[in-house]
Amino acid sequence: KKITIAIDGFSSTGKSTLAKELAATLGYVYVDTGAMYRAVTYFAMQNEYVSEDFLNKEALISQLPNVKLQFQFNSNLGFAEMYLNGENVEQPIRTIEVSRNVSKIAEISEVRTKLVEQQQAMGKDKAIVMDGRDIGTVVFPDAELKIFMNASAETRAQRRFDELIEKGQKVTYDEVLENVQQRDYIDTHREDSPLVKAEGAIEINNSALSKREQFDLVMN
Ligand code: C5P
Repeated sequence: KKITIAIDGFSSTGKSTLAKELAATLGYVYVDTGAMYRAVTYFAMQNEYVSEDFLNKEALISQLPNVKLQFQFNSNLGFAEMYLNGENVEQPIRTIEVSRNVSKIAEISEVRTKLVEQQQAMGKDKAIVMDGRDIGTVVFPDAELKIFMNASAETRAQRRFDELIEKGQKVTYDEVLENVQQRDYIDTHREDSPLVKAEGAIEINNSALSKREQFDLVMN
């Protein structure tokens, strides 16, 4: 039986690592909804609708019909990459600059409505693993399996810091920790679809779990 798997949780809790492994093992499609919010943010940054101390919400909302998001499977990588208006934006959307602006963009109701609709369309045939902040609560409240992931802020910041350094980005651990905490705050306090554990979700705190242990737990 094909099911829908919804994975939510705080920033950098390893949602995508788990989701990718599950999708590969089960032959399901993996959808990283954070990539969609990041792509809209990158669009807004390129058009100067947003910066660290500025947000032109109206301009972004009026341009939303011109934001075309697509996932394209890359068989070498084993997952789908994000395309914004035909351009592969997988690299630029992962930078700390985008991370600094993304939660402000994700607060905008018009943005959420557009992306949630697209996410629901992608998951209509099930056999999908989707990760984000509102998958079990808003996008697929009827998902057969809901996971809510958590870990200490320090553990999460360390993991994200290691990842960014590996990609050659210039950041400090403190900057990453601050960003993780700031995104958690905005994500849990916004009016539209705040991050909460969905009803019926299984909570996993993976501060002390290896990737293998976590994967086995969820498979079971
Ligand atoms: O998962 P990731 O860290 O890439 O998500 C980036 C940001 O996008 C989150 O901090 C959150 O503000 C927003 N987001 C969201 N709803 C989702 C996925 C991501 O608000 N379903």
